[in-house]
Amino acid sequence: MSIVPAANLLRTAVPQASSEEPERDVVPENPPTESWQRQLAAAIRDPAELRKRLGLPAIEAELTGSEGFPTLVPESFLRRMQPANPHDPLLLQVLTGPEESNSVAGFVADPVGDTAARKAPGMLQKYAGRALLVATGACAVHCRYCFRREYPYQNEPRRMDDWQPAIDALAEDSSITEVILSGGDPLMLTDIRLTELCQKLDAIPHIERIRFHTRLPIVLPSRVTDNFIRLLKELRAQPLVIVHANHGNEIADDCQQALQRIVRAGVPVLNQAVLLRNINNCADALEELCRRLTNIGVMPYYLHQLDRITGAAHFEVDVATGRRLITELAARLPGYAVPKFVQEIPGQPNKTSLF
Ligand SMILES: *Cc1c(COP(=O)(O)O)cnc(C)c1O
Ligand code: SF4
Repeated sequence: MSIVPAANLLRTAVPQASSEEPERDVVPENPPTESWQRQLAAAIRDPAELRKRLGLPAIEAELTGSEGFPTLVPESFLRRMQPANPHDPLLLQVLTGPEESNSVAGFVADPVGDTAARKAPGMLQKYAGRALLVATGACAVHCRYCFRREYPYQNEPRRMDDWQPAIDALAEDSSITEVILSGGDPLMLTDIRLTELCQKLDAIPHIERIRFHTRLPIVLPSRVTDNFIRLLKELRAQPLVIVHANHGNEIADDCQQALQRIVRAGVPVLNQAVLLRNINNCADALEELCRRLTNIGVMPYYLHQLDRITGAAHFEVDVATGRRLITELAARLPGYAVPKFVQEIPGQPNKTSLF
């Protein structure tokens, strides 16, 4: 294991705080002391480095994807990839390629209508009873198919004070009973910040549930700290944790342990996956994912039809194939282990069932 020089650690402890990508910045309030922060600081940010580490041949004129969405892969995720396999299903989720520059009709910057759903700084509402907070623009991994890869995070709250208008809007609207912390990834906030934000939400009497939409327990399991578990246990509102894994290989030992800690704290944990070409568009891969999840108490929730974000057309699988895969899964797995196949259609009152 390499030692990260202290100066380098401080500079990169909070990813995306680089000058190339200020819009995905988060405000660092502490020097990085936690192991997950050090691991993030050491994450791979260069596609050539990623190829090299996996023993894949270098390619000329590497596309860096630096147009606001550079490569980002933590070591803990890299370890689960098969060396020298250019088709590895985890690698394909994070490796930039020339296809990202293709302009394909129907693939746009805001495929799910986030702009129209913005009700206050950092707050989106599309569905009855639920509001979503864009807690930060930062993530621990950059998934090339991300539906928010073009989201204008620079306009959203950075400091706790910036959250007041959203908190006030939530406090004023008693029809909102659930708050979803999303992003980016809300677990990119330190435990101190996350606790502070959750306490403000928890103090609103009509908020019954607080949901954490996060990929960090999957890609950076050390983020599931004692303090995070304590935060979940101490909330008045019911917490739920919704993770995001697309392939069974993501559910490695360290990831299993992290998820089980949350499950054993008594918190419901659900998984969302995205149907992705060459990654999980076969029944065997989806079955294995669902089986591994349910074996540790994580319930498959949604299988999403790809949101048609610019640069992600090469990931799309047609809906008919998705339906066939769900039919196959239903024939192989217990009913509770089969995710709902859904699509987000702007303007609809809920995620639309495709099955
Ligand atoms: C997907 C989404 C939700 C959650 O929808 P569920 O079907 O309850 O999981 C809530 N708000 C927004 C803005 C969403 O995009
Ligand atoms: S973790 Fe989620 S928000 Fe972050 S890049 Fe991946 S899909 Fe997008």
